[in-house]
Parts: sequence; structure tokens; C-alpha cells
Amino acid sequence: MTGTHLGMPAFPAVAPAFPAAAREAVRDEVLRANLRHATHTIRDKRRRAVAELADWDRLRAAGKAVKDHTLRHLDRYLLQLDAAVTAAGGTVHWAADADEANRIVTDLVRATGEREVVKVKSMATQEIGLNEALEEAGIAAYETDLAELIVQLGHDRPSHILVPAIHRNRAEIRDIFRAEMGGWGRPAPEPLGDDPRELAEAARLHLREKFLRAKVAVSGANFMVAETGTMVVFESEGNGRMCLTLPETLISVVGIEKVVPTFRDLEIFLQTLPRSSTAERMNPYTTMWTGTTDGDGPSAFHLVLLDNGRTDTLADPTGRQALRCIRCSACLNVCPVYERAGGHAYGSVYPGPIGAILSPQLRGTGSAIDASLPYASTLCGACYEVCPVAIDIPEVLVHLRERVAQGGPVTRGGVRVTLRPADGRTAERAAMRAARLLLDRPGALRAAERLLARARRLAPRTLPGAGRGWTDSRELPTVAAESFRDWWARERSDPR
Ligand code: SF4
Repeated sequence: MTGTHLGMPAFPAVAPAFPAAAREAVRDEVLRANLRHATHTIRDKRRRAVAELADWDRLRAAGKAVKDHTLRHLDRYLLQLDAAVTAAGGTVHWAADADEANRIVTDLVRATGEREVVKVKSMATQEIGLNEALEEAGIAAYETDLAELIVQLGHDRPSHILVPAIHRNRAEIRDIFRAEMGGWGRPAPEPLGDDPRELAEAARLHLREKFLRAKVAVSGANFMVAETGTMVVFESEGNGRMCLTLPETLISVVGIEKVVPTFRDLEIFLQTLPRSSTAERMNPYTTMWTGTTDGDGPSAFHLVLLDNGRTDTLADPTGRQALRCIRCSACLNVCPVYERAGGHAYGSVYPGPIGAILSPQLRGTGSAIDASLPYASTLCGACYEVCPVAIDIPEVLVHLRERVAQGGPVTRGGVRVTLRPADGRTAERAAMRAARLLLDRPGALRAAERLLARARRLAPRTLPGAGRGWTDSRELPTVAAESFRDWWARERSDPR
């Protein structure tokens, strides 16, 4: 372990509300260009990959049905999984929250006597801030996924589920490798260009010595099979295979919603997940293991089953569909809000549309960021269209807005404040009342339109008061010189 700070900065406990964070992001032209290029490329490839399957809609419905069935009987399947993993030589631990999960993992690593672990990309461990907890205990956690490595070396935060360094371009990555790799282990080769092959080779050399040295690995899992106790990890680089097979001890931290009943159920997700995430027909590296096997792979396997707000989410009949998510990231790549604001503005390891419905449910809506996330959407519905398990994200967003609006005042930094969404509702009600007054009286509406057209040069470009938030990032439409009603009457000689 070097003296370098090893953890990526965790998402701050008190993050600014989404509009404030997004305002900064939309001003960053390089970030917007990187995001636009990456999301459009992935979304186009995904569309072509999905179109190849004639039975895509049936696969989508089947994935939804399997997940819904499992969530309805989650208690039964988790106990079945626990028994199957134990029978296969593994040890199962149950963690109610992030602190308990971090304590379990830290104690397990300490018990091995090791001071470092290699990690295969895991959103669950990011969600609980495991790297920071290990660092506090004097244990170095090395990320081995290429994008996670870039994020970790850059002292940065992930901004996309599948491509955590999507906000970085090649030149930035080259500079990070040059400046940071030497402090963490094998330095970057010199000279180093920004060609993808050169960058990948630099990462490969840097990581290889860590794989060969590590005695402990930490992973997540994409799926857990209840009937066999089998864990399944999807990845594209082979780093996962190294982490899951070379070390002596393997610790997997997995959200309880990742269980599926039978091995046969994987047939659906083996088709839908790769096409939805990387637009591949088949996943490059799919690693499965069941407990431990003498002389083959890790000799000790620990499974930490993580709740951390999932049981509360399950209790909400509308919100629980978020637990169907298989983390493919397709919803991020089609979202017009994510494309402009980027992932950091969501203040969570779960960015984009799925983050906007998952984080406020896992963490509650008491903070400024979590109360604002259900509003981080245009409700265009593109996320629902692409979701391979048919999560109706707009429906959950509206449901959560209702929850926030009913929540009233909350405490922020020890001060009681009223949430902006409630202000917005008051302004919206006033606007609706004014509109109703006009629309109920055609004569008054006509007179108002003519007056507006005559005075259009004086029309403001921004709204005052509560409406200012709306026009801060938009321009008001210009008032036409002639209303549609007058144009219609003139064109059709309709004397109305
Ligand atoms: S919500 Fe659906 S589209 Fe978005 S990451 Fe989850 S599974 Fe993929």
C-alpha cells in the first residue's frame, strides 16, 4: 500500500439539490460533448442489437414476470439461497444497512491478515462506501475494471452505471494515467499516447501485478440463483474472471433483490442484459460459481446479503418495481436530462432515470438531493421504452413527486425549510387558476391574445418570483404577431 489516498471520494452526505448540481454541469461544454458522443453511440448500437431479436417483447415480459414473482416471494427465495450457498461450502452474512455490511467485510479481510483487496466493479459496494470503510481500517481496495480504475486514479466519482468514466475523454485518461499510476503501483509506460490500445495496455500492465499478488477479492453479482446457490457476474474485460478465480478468499456484497429462483431463469437475462447494456449479442465474460471447490478458485467464499433500504422499497406497491432493475444503463443512454446534466448531478452511485427513482427510495426523501431527484425528468417515457424489465420509471417518478409534495418542510443543515417542489406547486396552482379564468371566457381570451400580440416587444424573457426557476434555464417563447385564432379567421374568412 502506498501513501496515496486510495478511496474515490464518496458521494457527499449533503449534496446540492439536482437543479443546482445540474446547472454547473450544463455549463461544462467538454462534459456535454463527451456525454453526447458516448450516449448516442451506445444507444444506437443497442437499438440495432435489440432489433435483431424477433421475440424481444416476450423476453422483456418474461424478465419482468420473473423479477416480480421473485420479489413477491423474496423471503422464501433468500432462505433457499442461504441454504444452497451454505451447502456448497460458502458462508452467508445478512447486513441490514451500509454500516453493518462494511463492518462484516472489514472484519473478514482483517481475519485473513491481508492489507489489500482487488475489486471487480460492484455498485452495491459503492452504494455502501466500502472502499472508504476499508481505507479507514488501513486496507487498500484496488478497482480493476478499466473505467473504475480511471475514476479511482482520478480521485473522481463514477457518473454512469456501465461506463463510470463516461465524462472523461481519451486525452484526460492519458493525463490521469501519467500522473497517478506511479503512486499506486506500476507507473504508466513512457511515452504514453491517447490511443485506446495504448491506454488499455497501460492499465493491463498496471493491474496484472495486483491480480497476481492479491489474496482477497471483493465483488458484487448480477444474479444469484436460489435453487443452486450460484453467483453470476457479467463483465467485459476479464478483470472479473481474474478477481473471482485467483485470490484465496472471495467476498461478494450483493443486494437482496438480485436473487432469481432457478438456473433456467438466467436464460432470459443472458439475452436481455448484454444487448441492453453493451449492445452485444453475448456477454464476453460471464463467470458463475457455486460455493467453493477444492483446488479450483478461492478456498473461502463469503456472501454478504445487503438490504440497505430495499425492504422499505419493497413495501411500496408502486415504487417496488425499481427493484426489478438489472443495471443495464439503457435508460441513462436515452435520457435527455442525463445527457445534459451528467451523472454527478444525481448525487448517488445510481445516476439517470433509475437513480431518480431508486436513490429516493433507498435513502428516503428527507435530503435536498433526494427530494429533488423525482423532478429530474421530463417524463418523456424514453426510459420505460428501452427498459428490458419494463420498469415504468415515469409512473414511479410521479408517485415519488406526490410523496415529496406531501412531505412538507424538512430539516436542512439544522434549519427547517420548505422544499422547492412545494413552492412550485403553489405557483402551479395559481397559474392553473388564471388559465381557467381565461379559458372559461372566449372573449376575454381573444382580448388577452390581441393585447399580448400588440405588446409583444415588451414581453419579458424571464418570469419573476417562483416562475424564475423555470426560465433560469429556458427562454420564454416569443409572442406571435398574430394569434392562431385571428389567422384562422382571416384565412378561412370565418367571421367568428
Ligand atoms: S431501470 Fe431498466 S433500463 Fe434502467 S438500468 Fe435498470 S434495467 Fe436498465
